[in-house]
Amino acid sequence: MSNYNPKSLKAEEFISHEEILETIEYAEKNKHNVELIDQILNKARPQKTEHGVHCEGLTHREASVLLACDIPEKVEEMYKLANEIKQAFYGNRIVMFAPLYLSNYCVNGCVYCPYHMKNKHIKRIKLTQDQIRDEVIALQDMGHKRLAIEAGEDPVHNSIEYILDSIKTIYSIQHKNGAIRRVNVNIAATTVENYRKLKEAGIGTYILFQETYNKKSYLELHPTGPKHDYDYHTEAMDRAMEGGIDDVGLGVLFGLEGYQYEFAGLMMHAEHLEAVHGVGPHTISVPRVKHADDIDPEAFDNSLDDEIFEKIAACIRIAVPYTGMIISTRESQEVREKMLHLGVSQISGASRTSVGGYTEEERPHDSEQFDVSDQRTLDEVVNWLMELGYIPSFCTACYREGRTGDRFMSLCKTGQIQNCCHPNALMTLCEFLVDYASEDTKRIGFELIEKEFNKIPNAKAQQIARDNVDAIKSSNRRDF
Ligand code: SAM
Repeated sequence: MSNYNPKSLKAEEFISHEEILETIEYAEKNKHNVELIDQILNKARPQKTEHGVHCEGLTHREASVLLACDIPEKVEEMYKLANEIKQAFYGNRIVMFAPLYLSNYCVNGCVYCPYHMKNKHIKRIKLTQDQIRDEVIALQDMGHKRLAIEAGEDPVHNSIEYILDSIKTIYSIQHKNGAIRRVNVNIAATTVENYRKLKEAGIGTYILFQETYNKKSYLELHPTGPKHDYDYHTEAMDRAMEGGIDDVGLGVLFGLEGYQYEFAGLMMHAEHLEAVHGVGPHTISVPRVKHADDIDPEAFDNSLDDEIFEKIAACIRIAVPYTGMIISTRESQEVREKMLHLGVSQISGASRTSVGGYTEEERPHDSEQFDVSDQRTLDEVVNWLMELGYIPSFCTACYREGRTGDRFMSLCKTGQIQNCCHPNALMTLCEFLVDYASEDTKRIGFELIEKEFNKIPNAKAQQIARDNVDAIKSSNRRDF
């Protein structure tokens, strides 16, 4: 008998090990049950309502059945549905961001991460506020408006005061074409009080990867340091929400444990946030373990091939339709392209995973967290996205207008997103083109913007977007 209780605040109950095992068994038993699979797919389909489009989403058990299903026509149907759901809520917009590594000092012993404390040959660097300023200016010079700050866990070197000072520094830099508009934060699990401080500092999403939901493996993979505490780590999002942060980002590091286990855990975590806080995760990230310094991904025997990885993305998209999905430069251009069609809504571009890497001419490797597969410039990534028919978006208006948590979700659910996000995406893309793009990217981009105006359903909103794009082109803009 499983102890699963999504409303519980105890990690072992909202991520119940027994329930995950039963879910995997149930999924395996039903993976060829076409009647059930059709029922699940029908439940997940977008439904027209008087306000727009509604999607029901799926339970962790239903979603796990889809993940287990290997009937080619059904898998094809899943991929189509994932794309349809993505179009309904995110259209063809892809939000752009870059990670900014502040410090690689770390007191943990995570066996998959080169920042682990015992690694004596990796160069340890902690950026000063002046160095952060230089890094941010380098990122702004590429055109970035949205950053995710990253740091190892070290109460002395990377104290909460250091993180807060760094956020303040980042937001204060007015360089050429305005400031960074959103700083998301990926730092170790912390206290309610510290989450409150992060909220007051104006962060966007608080991101924390679970790494693995399997407690036994978790304890082995994190043998030493504060991160060893599975419950404290797993219950972090509840503390973050208690501290007032209403956009939280989940993720697991795929490859550490069996993917079916991680997928069920992720879905249960999302159910838990919805059940307790009334709002699911803002984003889900899908990193895979990569080679890095003294880390060999082959050492973990749960690596998953691209096909399974793509199926995971499609199933996430179908199961939690209102949650953004993030894919980083850990993945190659080819994999990223496939994932875009299956529901990814945010990607990083031109990332450097080394501390201080953006101010270096050459990509430095001696303080990198992991190898980057997609090494293209931001201009190249933007160009590529537009060639594929996507709108790279630098918009952060929701967060600045206070549309976070359930307010963002209700914008999504009432179908107003197309009148709001689409114009903002076009305007911020136009800013990028005018300020940073190469001639070829400009040409493709301006043509695309012209075509995309017609997708804004409300005539007034469409006119405002046209006027604003004209204003940006003639250097007469406001901050979107
Ligand atoms: N220190 C913070 C914490 O404890 O959550 C997080 C910051 S860490 C810079 C960001 C993420 O990188 C980790 O949560 C982990 O999932 C991922 N990571 C670590 N080693 C990796 C590797 N070898 N390949 C891919 N991703 C890795």
